[in-house]
Order: sequence, then structure tokens, then C-alpha cells
Amino acid sequence: MTQNHGVADVDVTIPLLFEEGSPGSCAVSLSKSDVPQQDVRKMLPAELVADDSPPLPEIAEMDLVRHFTRLAHRAFSVDANFYPLGSCTMKYNPRINERAAALPGFANLHPYQPVDQIQGLLELLYAVREFLQEISGLPEVCLQPAAGAHGEMTGLMLVNAYHRDRGEQRLNVLVPDSAHGTNPATCTVCSRTAITVKSRPDGKVDLDDLRKKVDRHTAALMITNPNTVGVFDEQIGDLAEILHEQGALLYMDGANMNAMLGIMRPGDFGVDVMHFNTHKTFSTPHGGGGPGSGPVAVAEKLRPFLPIPQVIKKTDATFELDHNRPKSIGKVRAFFGQVGVLVRCYTYIRSLGTEGLRNVSDKAVLSANYLAKRLEKAYHFPIPGPYAHEFILVPKFEETGVTEIDVAKRLIDHGIHPPTMSWPVHHCLMIEPTETESLRTLDYFADTMLKIAREARETPEVVKNAPHHTPISRADEVGAARKPNVRWLPG
Ligand SMILES: *Cc1c(COP(=O)(O)O)cnc(C)c1O
Repeated sequence: MTQNHGVADVDVTIPLLFEEGSPGSCAVSLSKSDVPQQDVRKMLPAELVADDSPPLPEIAEMDLVRHFTRLAHRAFSVDANFYPLGSCTMKYNPRINERAAALPGFANLHPYQPVDQIQGLLELLYAVREFLQEISGLPEVCLQPAAGAHGEMTGLMLVNAYHRDRGEQRLNVLVPDSAHGTNPATCTVCSRTAITVKSRPDGKVDLDDLRKKVDRHTAALMITNPNTVGVFDEQIGDLAEILHEQGALLYMDGANMNAMLGIMRPGDFGVDVMHFNTHKTFSTPHGGGGPGSGPVAVAEKLRPFLPIPQVIKKTDATFELDHNRPKSIGKVRAFFGQVGVLVRCYTYIRSLGTEGLRNVSDKAVLSANYLAKRLEKAYHFPIPGPYAHEFILVPKFEETGVTEIDVAKRLIDHGIHPPTMSWPVHHCLMIEPTETESLRTLDYFADTMLKIAREARETPEVVKNAPHHTPISRADEVGAARKPNVRWLPG
């Protein structure tokens, strides 16, 4: 038996459940069945009956509990550690959200229940719609998309439907090189060709390049604003004009609304369609594939095409699912959206209120700029500030060979999750502190980054061989992806 589990400095491998158990052990004792025993071979066709019982691990309850508790202690999470993962808005998720989502009146609903039995839920969804309409400055929101990228797909389907309805087929979508990677991917999924628009050295769109590329074949421009190098492009109104002159639309990736709440509204600067990442901006534990919610907000001209059903409020103040939208692109998700995530979104917005939301963005922006200022002498900043809610820096220690990966790995030794690496600029780290971190945590992070910069010059081997205090040091990431060892049976 392996001892000292969970002690970080000791190299301990957690065995598989199969290896930890012993024949005859069992974690549950079921009471004797009072149903007469039957021979399964008499009840099922022979080909459906296995020759042997399945090779399940045999392990006692306490060993089972310890096994999973040890694994859980190794998990890195926002609840335990600072997580400055750029573009992902990994912020603290208030527990009240979980309480609300777990209320039996929400958690035990079935999506096939008749509308008169789910009035409370529909009222909540309608309220979320109204909040997001107010925040975006756009007249209608659809809550169906299940994540940010899914919202992008829905948005571009709406753009395509709009042009088709006008008898036009526009096959190109312009995407600035500072866009999130999902933007060009969405173009491909929606059978459109992504054409890159150049950015200027300050990270903003090169309007001359845009003017050259926009024409009657342009369906839309998809812009992430603030973009992935952390700057807000204040030319956005001009961009909208240039596009609209050619009959093209402006799509805004709103995953970074953390920087904008209550300060500006996309609908006011010419955006025709955008998505929210409610699991980022309005909190919800996410990452590793879910759960998410990517509501889409649209301008007047795109409303007829929105997915159905839409949650509406009737004149008698009851709520209904409206299917009557003849030009709708149809459904993009089963039922009416990621309800559990939307309950969290509602709770977050209601618990903060108007001033609280504004405060979120003020603090997110202040935190990012504070960190950038503290680190400016030790690292290279390819894009000048001021920044929105995140920024990129490049570790430049050429003479010692220390790279961005080494700095990221060394942060793990200090209990900090590595930031996004090498994207969108080669060799950079993208840092997003969010509004939820205290000054003390921000200073701890800045102090640690400064210490690593010193180490990189004075004792580079320490940084290059990091992490030193984890159960394993550097995994072979390519090997893990190409030749995964997913053994689940002994031997
Ligand atoms: C996270 C993110 C997305 C994708 O959202 P998912 O919910 O992960 O699909 C798109 N754009 C930007 C700018 C993002 O940060």
C-alpha cells in the first residue's frame, strides 16, 4: 500500500482502483433480496448473456473514499488557487448561484412538463433575456446556444439567413487576426470562408486593410472586442459603418463582456449580432468542456430569423414558448437552453444589481492594468496599454533560454495556474486576473512573476526544470496526446 498520499513533495503515484483493491473486498453490503432468484440464461437470448461476471474492482468503502479524495486533492481549481487564464474569465463562482440552481423547483423540472407547470422557470428565463437585452443594447436575445462557440455558430447562421432572405449569397466573413480561434472555426462550420484582416501594431484593426477586403461578397466581420491581446478597439463604430455601407453585418464575440458591463453597450456602437458567454461573464464553474451557455443578442433586422421556441411574456403576464416565427433558422438546441447555467446567470446578475455589474467591469479592468504596471519592467509587452480586462506579456530571457513555458511551469510551484500560453502572439502569456481577486492575491502573483524573472537571469535551471513540487514534473504532452495510456483493466 502506498503511504503519504497528498503530500506534495513526495513522489507518490495513485494506483488504479483495480490495484488498490483485494479480491473479496466490497464497498457496499446490500440486504438480501426478497425476490426469488431466476436463472438469467432462461430469461435472455444466449448471445446477450456474458460468460463471466464483469472484471470490476473489489475494494472496501474506506479505501474507495480515500482513493477519490486523494485524486480530488490533486485537482487544480478556482476555489483553491489563483487562475489567471487569459480569455477564459475563470473567476470565483459565488455559492449562492449553486444554491439557486439546486432549488427543487428548478432542479426537479422536466423539459416535457406543460408550460402552465413551469411558469416560474419561464419567468426567470424571460428575465435573463431582458437583462441581456439591456446589457447588450440590442432588442432581442435567444437563450438556446449551449456555449460561446455554439452562440457564434447560431449568430453566423442568422447572418446567413438574413442575406438569403434578401436574395443574396455572401460567402466571405472577415476576421481580424486578433480574434478568438473559435471565430474562424465558426466560419468554416457555417460554410463561409474566413478572410483575415490585419491588426496594427497597437492591436487594433487596420481600417485600410479592412476597406480593401470588404465588398458585396462579405457576409459579416466577426470581431472579438475587447480582443485577445487585451485592447478595446474604439474604432468599432467606424467598422460598423464600413461594413453596413456594403450591406455586411457586424458580429461581436462578447465573451469578454467582463470588461464592458454597464460601461458600453454593443448595440449602441453598431453591432448587429453578438453572443455572451454567461459561464464566463456571469460566473458558473466551467472548463474541461462545460457546462456553458452562449445566448445570442441581435439587432432588429435579425429578429425574424431567431431560433424557436422563444420565451415570451403575454399581455396577461403569463409566460409562453412561442413557436410562431416563420423565418426562424429552427432549433439549435434541445428544449430551451442550458437552464442550470441560466439560473446561475440570473442569480449572479440579481445579486450584484446594476451598480454591482458596473463594479465588476471597473475592477476587472483595474486589476489587469495594475498587474501590467507592476510587471512592465521585468517582461516585454508587445501591445501597449491601457488594457481592458486582460493583457499579454512575453518573457524575454534569450541569453538563458528560459521560455514562456518555463515561466508558466514555475508558477505551478507557487500554487498559481499557468496563464494561456503562446497565443495569440508567439511566446506570450495571456493574463486575465478578473475582478474577484483581492489586492493581496494580485500582489502575490506580481511578486511571484518578478521573482521568476530574477531566477530566469540568475539561476535559469530552476525555472527550466520547474515544476519541482508536483507529483510529476513535466509530462510528455505530445506523447500523452498521441499515445494515450487509457488502461482501465489490470495488466
Ligand atoms: C471562451 C471564448 C469563446 C468560446 O466559448 P466556449 O463557451 O468555450 O465555446 C469564444 N470567444 C472568446 C473570446 C472566448 O474567450
